[in-house]
Amino acid sequence: MPASRPLLAANWKMNPLSAGAAAELAGDVLPAAREHAGRVEVALFPPFPWLLPVARVLEGTEVGLGAQDCHWEASGAFTGEVSAAMLAGWCDWVIVGHSERRIHFGEDDGMVARKAAAGLAAGLDVILCVGEREEEFVDGRTGAVIERQLRAGLEGVEARGGRRLVVAYEPVWAIGTGRNADPDHAGRTIGLIRRTLVDVLGRPGQEVRVLYGGSVNAANVASYVGLPTCDGCLVGGASLKAAEFSRMIAEVAALPRAVAAGEEAE
Ligand code: PEP
Repeated sequence: MPASRPLLAANWKMNPLSAGAAAELAGDVLPAAREHAGRVEVALFPPFPWLLPVARVLEGTEVGLGAQDCHWEASGAFTGEVSAAMLAGWCDWVIVGHSERRIHFGEDDGMVARKAAAGLAAGLDVILCVGEREEEFVDGRTGAVIERQLRAGLEGVEARGGRRLVVAYEPVWAIGTGRNADPDHAGRTIGLIRRTLVDVLGRPGQEVRVLYGGSVNAANVASYVGLPTCDGCLVGGASLKAAEFSRMIAEVAALPRAVAAGEEAE
């Protein structure tokens, strides 16, 4: 059962170029996020140096703040790295295993697993990304790749209440290409992810939220979040345009949603 309040997570990657522009972008998204806070959960993931300026803008709001990566050790001789423990004081979230980190920075499944475990141990909500490459998709190996990445990524993650763990299915060939995945393909893969989560984590796996990511925009976001198994989207390029991202929030808010226990039907 998908979450009653879908999540839209904005991965800004290495953008924008200045603290002022980052604060402005966050500020421009706030009206839509505030208006629809009861129906859509929003989290922003700026680059490390802009976490503080964006945190100031988000103070007192329900919009979450997260980092795009973390190191698994709490501190030590790891030049250039930032630990999950350091982020925990002022972030709610961290992304681990993004395909750009796997491809450009050589992160393997073992490193991703340690990052996921460290993020959770530090008290952060963790978005664990998995996704197949184009050649794997073409060869019909999506299921095998996703299952391997997920089982490996969950190594060391304890079977506990799953709300703090989120899995993002992001086909590599769909990221930043404008070639968003067919919603049927996304839905089938998310189904596989859900079954694997339950197999690995037991009952708490049912509570883990699963997102789709890859060239999502205001025109197509409803076709993913409207899937019965999808709990939201991880958004890259479109989240850098405040007007577009605000439209996405409104589109998702307009979708019929599951009624959680204790909530009134609308
Ligand atoms: C991403 O970076 O996680 C992503 C999904 O990017 P885009 O929306 O630009 O494809």
